[in-house]
Amino acid sequence: MGPSRPGKGNHYMRLCRFDNGRLGVVEGENLRDVTAALDVLPAYRYPLPTSDPLIGNLAAVTDRIRTVLPAAPVQPLSAVTLLAPVANPGKVVAAPVNYQKHLDEVRGDEGLHHQNPINTIQKTGLFLKATSALAGAGEGIALRKLDRRNDHEVELVFIIGKTARGVSRDEALDYVAGYAIGLDITIRGSEERSLRKSADSYAILGPWMVTADEIPDPGVLDLSLAVNGQTRQQSNTRNLILGVPALIELASSFYTLYPGDIFFTGTPEGVSPIEPGDTIVASIERIGSMTVQVRAA
Ligand code: MN
Repeated sequence: MGPSRPGKGNHYMRLCRFDNGRLGVVEGENLRDVTAALDVLPAYRYPLPTSDPLIGNLAAVTDRIRTVLPAAPVQPLSAVTLLAPVANPGKVVAAPVNYQKHLDEVRGDEGLHHQNPINTIQKTGLFLKATSALAGAGEGIALRKLDRRNDHEVELVFIIGKTARGVSRDEALDYVAGYAIGLDITIRGSEERSLRKSADSYAILGPWMVTADEIPDPGVLDLSLAVNGQTRQQSNTRNLILGVPALIELASSFYTLYPGDIFFTGTPEGVSPIEPGDTIVASIERIGSMTVQVRAA
């Protein structure tokens, strides 16, 4: 890593959103309520920007956070409802079958592929999830289509920090604002991925956003997921077929990525069904863990 990365700044923060749209800085088991720092955001008028206001102004907000932090009230994380750390992303991009062992398991199970041709990510490319599917760890997953199989997919998620067009993989990490854990919840069936993976709450993002400075290499992170205490998925992001830089290169060759755009990088092997009443615990090294409850919609 070079000593300076233009436009990236040194944030070194874990930012969460909680309760009624409040902003927090996570410190261990507690958070500091720094909602007052949002006062630096511009007063928007229609039409709204294509980028998320918080991520698009992240340097100004984190500067202000440093000012208000010493006097900010402390609350235990256990006492708040965690929301998705990005409220208004322009789009949610996702990578299909981006771990070889997950590709193998999908091709080998009719309950997963439903006669859909399963190509490599190099042939399939990327898909989009509806932004309305986004929810935080504390909001839980509201399952639909209970007569069909619903699966969990734990994924490293990165959040774009500055406008990216035609970015090469060598420069790509300069465009990342931060990282979070994602759950790409999936209804199995024959329809397009964008439909089956876009039900409300089927894009869990949390528990907070770790600023990119804290993760100099997103390609070496252990990730895991357990359901009701039983480990179902366990891998490392070194097993990604297309890593974070290659995903940014691919996506930005097709469309512009804007600050706040969210990118699900794909899930490793071990996907399995979830049902109302289940408790999911998802963890990624250097980010943390989140507990997510599953209920019927
Ligand atoms: Mn996925």
